[in-house]
Amino acid sequence: MKVAIYPGSFDPMTLGHLNIIRRASRIFDKVVVCIMVNGSKDRAMFTPEQRVDMARRVTAHLPNVEIDYYNGLLAEYARRFDHPVIVKGLRASMDFENEFTMASINKKLNPDMETMFLTASDKYTFVSSSNVKEIARHGGDLRDFMPRELIDEVTEMARKEK
Ligand code: ADP
Repeated sequence: MKVAIYPGSFDPMTLGHLNIIRRASRIFDKVVVCIMVNGSKDRAMFTPEQRVDMARRVTAHLPNVEIDYYNGLLAEYARRFDHPVIVKGLRASMDFENEFTMASINKKLNPDMETMFLTASDKYTFVSSSNVKEIARHGGDLRDFMPRELIDEVTEMARKEK
């Protein structure tokens, strides 16, 4: 069984993420979305548990997708699978350098895993969790950025932060 691991912070999950998950689920037997909790990203809006719960709800219709989380190195997490493929989404040049470096580091730490990239869909090249949070904080319309069922939670969380 060929397993893909799709790692990220998913704080929160966007339509760009969901697009990559859906496409990967057609290529691989199983896709494990791994919510990483050790990132050095901007401050998190949601706890890992909340992110897992939101990710599960918006992928419930995809039978070969599982959601997990891990507080540690992806190269270590990946050891539980047989020659897993790490799937990453690539949005133009802004992701390239960082992802290229990460893929090389991961290969060094765990030579059994490969990294593959799916290019972002045209519709979502401009979508990121950071700009979703920024739009929510300023009361903008999130319908082109996020799964509909998550919009209220993100809007509510942004309101509470104030
Ligand atoms: P973000 O960069 O939005 O904060 P993550 O760190 O959670 O998100 O991203 C996880 C993975 O998803 C990374 O490989 C990232 O490049 C990819 N990704 C993020 N947004 C998109 C998008 N709009 N289209 C395609 N891939 C994306």
